Amino acid sequence: MDDEERTSVATPGAEPVPIGELPPPGVVPARMHAQVVRQDRFGDPAEAFRPEVVDTPRIGPGEVLIGVMAAGINYNNVWAARGYPVDQIAVRRKRGEPEDFHIGGSDASGIVYAVGEGVTGVEIGQHVIVHPGVWDADDPWIAAGRDPMIAPSAKIWGYDTNYGAFGQFARVQAHQLLPKAEHLSWEEAAAPTLVGTTAYRMLYGWAGNTLQSGDLVLVWGGSGGLGTQACQMVRAAGGRAVAVVSDDERGAFAMKHGAIGYINRREFGHWGVPPLVDDTAGQKEWSKDARAFGKKLWEIAGAREDPAIVFEHPGGATIPTSVFLCRPGGMVVICAGTTGFDAMVDLRYHWTRQKRLQGSHGTNDEQARAYNDLVRAGTIDPVLGRTVPFSEVPAAHAAMGRGEDVFGNVAVLVGAASPGQGRTC
Ligand code: NAP
Repeated sequence: MDDEERTSVATPGAEPVPIGELPPPGVVPARMHAQVVRQDRFGDPAEAFRPEVVDTPRIGPGEVLIGVMAAGINYNNVWAARGYPVDQIAVRRKRGEPEDFHIGGSDASGIVYAVGEGVTGVEIGQHVIVHPGVWDADDPWIAAGRDPMIAPSAKIWGYDTNYGAFGQFARVQAHQLLPKAEHLSWEEAAAPTLVGTTAYRMLYGWAGNTLQSGDLVLVWGGSGGLGTQACQMVRAAGGRAVAVVSDDERGAFAMKHGAIGYINRREFGHWGVPPLVDDTAGQKEWSKDARAFGKKLWEIAGAREDPAIVFEHPGGATIPTSVFLCRPGGMVVICAGTTGFDAMVDLRYHWTRQKRLQGSHGTNDEQARAYNDLVRAGTIDPVLGRTVPFSEVPAAHAAMGRGEDVFGNVAVLVGAASPGQGRTC
């Protein structure tokens, strides 16, 4: 949307409020507190994020202003703080957006404070969560009835777009809003939606290889944000998730959240780009380790069974193993390349065994609704590992960037004064 179409919804005379408070629903101060990234601070998230007072976002047609009660921390804002691989501020400036800063945050729970022109079915005071898929309503791809998350205009809210969850007020498109689960606190509700909806799309979004009852699924990072959501979804569907983790404590955590067993990746060493095909000795060595890894999977499955789906996000370090192990006709579905973007696939295994290597990103409205229904029904737990105060947004991202926060999801209190608030049943 052109920024000129947006207008201020500030209430005359309304003063900014401290973190841990929000004004009465509908009262919008002209200025707000936010954790802000600027280009001259790009690098370690501990330095890149700083608290600032900025103008409260304006909204336009189809948009909604929410008062943020809690926010979720995701890896995407580690990337945003580093300015790598994409400088999001530069990209937005090129698109004509006026702000020279980034307020990220792709997960939020909160309260509706203002509703833009043309929005129906959303009212001031509603308790909501936000899914992270955004796009232009008039995108011809979407007008043709195709998946909006593949449209040229598709973006991730609070990463590609500004005014995400790390400000007291956030700007969203109305279709992103979903009802908050009544049994969850603000921080529990804020924690899982980005990873949960991503996992849902990965497991259910790709016809021909959707998750089926009985399926064996290999889940990389089984104790992390995406992984704990995937393990729970596989269990709920009557499948069997085997988690890959880096120690026994993480393995036990993955099993608590649905995995039938785990493989400790530290017991193996065949990671990264394998020896090339003509390097016979190197290939033999690599295959030996990869087969031993596969044997471990068979032991847990209780049969010589290969996974119908491999749930991927480490990327460079693990793709060769994922493609090697996936069963014929199965799918390796990937949404990130945390360990590296250069991945090698031995095409012999890929084509002769007719496997699928499927990219997946974000969520559409339908998938987000289906995921949120599982959360509201209590089938999926948000797996809130840690709640931090607003002042720790920089440190929490820095820890995630160093790979320290691997037990489920991390949430931040924004408008909520203390943990545990917001449950209404
Ligand atoms: P997370 O909670 O930090 O979990 C990452 C997991 O990766 C950890 O549990 C860790 O488990 C595992 N890991 C770390 N180093 C590894 C290695 N060398 N080999 C194998 N596994 C390794 O992060 P997350 O929230 O699940 O997100 C993971 C990635 O997905 C991030 O890059 C994120 O940006 C991306 N993502 C993409 C989308 C999308 O829509 N495209 C959505 C959500 C997330 P162990 O150390 O125990 O093995």
